[in-house]
Amino acid sequence: MQAFEAVNHYFDQAAVLLDLSDNMRTLMITPDRELRVEVAIEMDSGQIGNFIGYRVQHDNARGPFKGGLRFHPHVDQDEARSLASLMTWKTAVVNLPFGGGKGGMNCDPNKLSRGELERVTRKFVQQIHDFIGPDKDIPAPDVGTDAQVMAWVMNEYSKYHGFQPACVTGKPVEYHGSEGREAATGYGVMIVAREILKRLGKEIRGTTFAIQGYGNVGSNTARYLAEAGGVITAISDAYGAVVNPRGLDIKALDAHVAIDRKVVGFPGGEPATNEQLLTQPVDVLIPAALGGVFDAETAKQVRAHLIIEAANSPTWPEADEVFRTREIPVVPDILVNAGGVIVSYFEWVQNQQHFRWPLDRIQREEETTMVESFNKIYELATRKGIPLRTAAFMIGISRVGRARVLGGI
Ligand code: NAD
Repeated sequence: MQAFEAVNHYFDQAAVLLDLSDNMRTLMITPDRELRVEVAIEMDSGQIGNFIGYRVQHDNARGPFKGGLRFHPHVDQDEARSLASLMTWKTAVVNLPFGGGKGGMNCDPNKLSRGELERVTRKFVQQIHDFIGPDKDIPAPDVGTDAQVMAWVMNEYSKYHGFQPACVTGKPVEYHGSEGREAATGYGVMIVAREILKRLGKEIRGTTFAIQGYGNVGSNTARYLAEAGGVITAISDAYGAVVNPRGLDIKALDAHVAIDRKVVGFPGGEPATNEQLLTQPVDVLIPAALGGVFDAETAKQVRAHLIIEAANSPTWPEADEVFRTREIPVVPDILVNAGGVIVSYFEWVQNQQHFRWPLDRIQREEETTMVESFNKIYELATRKGIPLRTAAFMIGISRVGRARVLGGI
């Protein structure tokens, strides 16, 4: 099964309960537009570097397409399509006036110099600038891209279309970005963790967590959970894991990663493998790296009692079945990591208004949106006796479907 098929599998589980017609199903799962562009640059060596960039615009019934840009060697059309589709359901689940899009490039940013990274970013924008924009399609950071990359996107876009800071979100605060955007996804993950634990009669304080991935999402999630009294006993990144059953000192780990660029070698824990991270005996397991982490086999070995999906698409459908049989609740990606796009929306609004919001307002409004969305999903799931993911898809599909019908097919 490929990634887009997996998203559509989850879509179908909800569509059946909504009694969606076949025509409507086809209309809603099919992307509106898919771009595939060559991104050729001169490398520092003088050679030509050839990369392929993608932008999939999945659905804009509820507003402009919205979604990240991923720079990773595995990026391809199917992955971009699946992530674009997820964005459609995610923006609808948290009720933002956006549709869904996603894009990226099949490059490895770790192997590019800063100059090369800037050149591929600008070249990519040169190839797609007519198709994006504040009222069309608004990119944001994802795996392998950050605020600096978004600054280059805005700067390059402005050469063609004039000053338009709302053409991209996740920009640096000093360059038309928003307070709180960088940490927004992790902050939202912590809020969802707090809410689901509350429903299970628990709290973050004293609960044990293992987190896979220590980039933007994983590191900010760890920081907020630790600040709330959570005990983070294991963390991994692409190079390996560190484990400390008494809890890792997150501040000290951040200081270590700032220098070494990886968690392995951290003196406050024992080294472990990426596989061992997934089978830690913890209360909560949080995948916060790439997709496709849990297949049926890994799902059988998981020893956590709750999965909170901070990454996009970490769970293949067959693993989802295993978790369901084992009665391990899975809080789905389209809710858990929506904090990023929520604050991207606030950034877009601030850019349009040319008016800055303070951090406390941003965090307060992000929290309100996350809690309201969580409650709606939790209540629907409880009332119907269905998984949280199916409930989330039902809410997302209903909203998108309604907008489609109201706007006219
Ligand atoms: P990032 O590039 O900042 O970090 C990715 C992390 O994953 C790195 O620490 C990397 O070393 C690690 N990693 C890669 N392969 C791994 C492996 N096999 N095992 C363990 N760790 C591995 O990316 P990010 O922005 O933190 O995104 C992480 C996930 O969250 C992605 O699925 C992304 O789509 C999703 N997400 C991100 C945002 C955002 O605002 N950045 C918003 C919503 C969803």
